[in-house]
Amino acid sequence: MSGLTVAAALSVARASGVDRLDAQLLLARALGRPRPWLIANDDAVLREDQSAAYLKAIERRAAGEPLAYIVGEKEFHGLLLTVSPAVLVPRPDTETLVRWALDLLEGPLSAVPSPQVVDLGTGSGAVALAVCHACRRADVTATDSSAAALRVAHANARRLGLPVRFVAGDWWHAVRGRRFALALSNPPYIAEADPHLPALRHEPQAALRSGRDGLDAIRCIASAAGKHLEAGGWLLLEHGHEQADAVRSILAEAGLVDLQSRADLAGVLRCSGGRCPGPV
Ligand code: GLN
Repeated sequence: MSGLTVAAALSVARASGVDRLDAQLLLARALGRPRPWLIANDDAVLREDQSAAYLKAIERRAAGEPLAYIVGEKEFHGLLLTVSPAVLVPRPDTETLVRWALDLLEGPLSAVPSPQVVDLGTGSGAVALAVCHACRRADVTATDSSAAALRVAHANARRLGLPVRFVAGDWWHAVRGRRFALALSNPPYIAEADPHLPALRHEPQAALRSGRDGLDAIRCIASAAGKHLEAGGWLLLEHGHEQADAVRSILAEAGLVDLQSRADLAGVLRCSGGRCPGPV
């Protein structure tokens, strides 16, 4: 389609049901221009290669693919991360987990000179990299069972110049024999039959689904926490919007104390955590 103007390109997107902001971002990208340029130039004509790239991107977005995969990047806690379909798209909800981790590192764990921190199931590296970036004295290790995800995370760490160590393996298996002052995870927590799963079909299912009630990964992480936390060390987990009570019971059963939950920006209890008994 040659001779497409900026205005016409945006109405094609509207007709395909693509959100206006997403369409503007994709068009600005195809044109190599900042988004405000579009507003002052709605009669500018796209080159053929630009139309082709843009229309392809609109088609992908209209088919439900996350914008982050189409543009290959996503901002998380002030860091620009590269993402691919090998990793979950980092969500703003997960910044709740990072903020809680930083509160602990600056509060109860502030006397630990080089706190050992682990991010279990790191995906793009979002949580580990955000904590490492905001708290330089933390010694951060991140794990994932997916080699493809670890490649993405590793590339993000290199590009951002952040010294996070990456290890392959399932949950604690990747770091057996080590103990941590702070363990973090945004594990899969969606129940197999959850009606939201079809909308998430473009994302890695292993990062989303976790058994009949969505709590399999959380039970697995909690049950071995005692062997991997230092005395006084904390475990913080992200979970689904109706799982806070269940997760706190699982943490209690695992012997953790000081159980708490924290809400995300929408006011939903999104993370729960607790501490291994004993002084830090
Ligand atoms: N928060 C994600 C969602 O509901 C799920 C992430 C996860 O399972 N860890 O879209």
